[in-house]
Amino acid sequence: MTLVDTPATATGGPALAQERRLVTAIPGPRSQELLARKASAVAAGVGHTLPISVVAAGGGVVVDADGNSLIDLGSGIAVTGVGNSAPRVVEAVTAQLNAFTHTCFTVSPYEGYVAVAEKLNELTPGDHVKRTALFNSGAEAVENAVKIARHYTKKQAVVAFDHAYHGRTNLTMGLTAKNQPYKNGFGPFAPEIYRAPLSYPFRDGGLDGREAAARAILGIEKQIGAENLAAIIIEPIQGEGGFIVPAPGFLAALVEWATANDVVFIADEVQTGFARTGAWFASEHEGIVPDLIVTAKGIAGGLPLSAVTGRAEIMDAAQVGGLGGTYTGSPLACAAALATIETYAEDGLVERAKEIGSVLIGRLNALRTADARIGDVRGRGAMVAIELVDPETGAPDAALTGKVAKYAHEQGVILLTCGTYGNVIRFLPPLTISDELLIEGLGVVAEGLKQA
Ligand SMILES: *Cc1c(COP(=O)(O)O)cnc(C)c1O
Repeated sequence: MTLVDTPATATGGPALAQERRLVTAIPGPRSQELLARKASAVAAGVGHTLPISVVAAGGGVVVDADGNSLIDLGSGIAVTGVGNSAPRVVEAVTAQLNAFTHTCFTVSPYEGYVAVAEKLNELTPGDHVKRTALFNSGAEAVENAVKIARHYTKKQAVVAFDHAYHGRTNLTMGLTAKNQPYKNGFGPFAPEIYRAPLSYPFRDGGLDGREAAARAILGIEKQIGAENLAAIIIEPIQGEGGFIVPAPGFLAALVEWATANDVVFIADEVQTGFARTGAWFASEHEGIVPDLIVTAKGIAGGLPLSAVTGRAEIMDAAQVGGLGGTYTGSPLACAAALATIETYAEDGLVERAKEIGSVLIGRLNALRTADARIGDVRGRGAMVAIELVDPETGAPDAALTGKVAKYAHEQGVILLTCGTYGNVIRFLPPLTISDELLIEGLGVVAEGLKQA
């Protein structure tokens, strides 16, 4: 028995046949074999949305060991914006693998890291002087953004928002709002973290952006005090929390207040970043310039990389040796990031995200007109969601959401849910998906709604 049982034909990337193809039930027998091995080898707390045994992926599909080809509407949670095994990424990482794999940037530096920092400084909102530091995961970058903000302001408190998701490490669990499954049983959490109310147009009774911001700011001033507050951290569009797009003006009012009060404004663009929303960064839609911006997920075509980019005077505050890590800004991940950024730019993927958004919003709004269980359709670019509710009361309908997702999975569509109340279906297709596959995937979701 070979250790990794991958068929010789397992070649991913855009050359993979772009079709939904079911040859067994999902999961098929070979996937089930892997799941049995997994159950006796891997910690039970590591779960799956769609338990198949993946052997290849690319374009808009994921192929399993049984030969099923599934439509990918999740991009591995907004990571493979450029598609799986994107050609430029494969080429760049292969060349880097052959040159060298690791030195530790804080032992001896290399160009890839610096080039990624230059790119991020150039692409992120604002024309002020910037610096970047690289890390491995979104959570690690969020932690470092908070470290940097505290060091710079010499203050300690941090405000996060209702419905926030910032990661699974101790500090980021504390910043994350939702208890199950992210926090339950894992406390105690880090001190000096406070939660403020969000702007949630579908559920906050028609507060406009400025009013919702005033409510949050009043709470912050009364319960913490700006003189104790190092940073506000917020996702420009809440991701795991339910793809909540705040009312226009909400983010701008927060930035304005933060600037006036020596509070660092941190935009967590881990999920919204890199072309996903039809702009390089979602902050651009609201015309805001964050002091620090955290990126990860879509940055490197699937290789682990994250970054904090921001105002030079803030980023440069920490002492030498205060920021870093063994693998942070790995040469392989940096090569991947440069190739990924080039792919977004050269292949017009920011525009493509907008087109995908039009298809999604158009079709989902049409469904909503005929189906009162779809309470809301929202999002930007290729980051779109529907919120499912009881049509009578508006109460969140997590059971219906689960049924639709289960149906989609059985029919060969990778579909993700989210939301504090578990009643949101989110669409995060790779930006390399064809309209045909996208529309076919949406058709499966529509059928799932009909059958539920
Ligand atoms: C996924 C995510 C994180 C955490 O990133 P990891 O790489 O999983 O640590 C942080 N913030 C947001 C908004 C995310 O979507």
